[in-house]
Amino acid sequence: MNLIVTGGAGYIGSHAVQQLLKGGHRVVVLDNLFRGHRRPLELLGLGSSPALSFVEGSITDASVVEAAFSKGKVDAVLHFAALAYVGESVDQPLEYVNANITGLARVLEACGRHGVERFVFSSSCSTYGNPPEGMIPVPETCPQDPVSPYGRSKLVGEWIIRDFAAAQARAGKPFGFAFLRYFNVCGCDVSGLLGEDHTPESHLVPILMQVAMGQRSHIDLFGTDYPTPDGTCVRDYVHVEDLISAHILAIEKLRPGDARAYNVGIGRGYSVREIIEAARRVTGKPIPVKEGPRRAGDASMLFNDPRLVKSDLGWNPVHTDIEQVIRSAWNWFSRHPQGYKTA
Ligand code: UDP
Repeated sequence: MNLIVTGGAGYIGSHAVQQLLKGGHRVVVLDNLFRGHRRPLELLGLGSSPALSFVEGSITDASVVEAAFSKGKVDAVLHFAALAYVGESVDQPLEYVNANITGLARVLEACGRHGVERFVFSSSCSTYGNPPEGMIPVPETCPQDPVSPYGRSKLVGEWIIRDFAAAQARAGKPFGFAFLRYFNVCGCDVSGLLGEDHTPESHLVPILMQVAMGQRSHIDLFGTDYPTPDGTCVRDYVHVEDLISAHILAIEKLRPGDARAYNVGIGRGYSVREIIEAARRVTGKPIPVKEGPRRAGDASMLFNDPRLVKSDLGWNPVHTDIEQVIRSAWNWFSRHPQGYKTA
């Protein structure tokens, strides 16, 4: 297949490119390198492999999007490009509208012009907000009521894609889409080639790795008074390679006109304290903690009911042990203390 991967130079997108190339697909990456890096693309064969090409620019720029889509026939689009920090979205909500909504519209316009029939959208469990009683683990039927601008931008994205697909269907151009609502994606490519390199970094696992490497003095624990067993937030941590395998299965199963939505999380919740303990065991480092107030926009407890993604797509996550997941991150971070800038 010929695929466009928006955000393919980012953490999750680059892991997708790796698996797609391994599967024999041809990939055009569209990325503005705002938070992504050229280095993972080079490591995956940019410049030497005819299966990988790259268009640098923003998804909000219609001419840039058109440049990526006009490189050849497009069988499917994986749309990863987005801003994705809950905390940042609270302070800069309009940036999230621009990237996650306007950018999505530009990409969908190009899908329309080029007759694309398969589209996988990076959505988020944060579209659920704080699920009501009886809805944890979270099924796809849970009401979506996001509590952050980021979550809202992803939910609006889902609505826009549904509306676009309906309009395409009326015009006799069936458009198939799958929303993959990610839980907490973490870990790195187990071969050690690709990693996670964000500036600024705000995610729990990479920050723990930076504390373990001595680059930060401590981790700030955001909130110890949540209504959870140990008072800290509970999340479902899914390994990036398992997340990507769900995308590949979705692309394979998706038919023009399909409307699908799957939660992608392993179905086990860990508290922030449990993740800190696991990181201490994996790294052998003390990892000092400073307990602090809640972070705006955080839901207290989110973990997945993975039955639908398993039964419909045949998804079978293989990295389900949290220490194994954190070890794959430590493997990369400890060898790349300066991220992709490490020589
Ligand atoms: N967290 C924390 N300290 C940090 C970063 C994150 O206590 O420095 C907590 C955060 O409040 C949340 C969990 O770790 O409960 C996962 O946060 P992350 O930012 O990794 O992912 P999110 O759930 O926001 O997508």
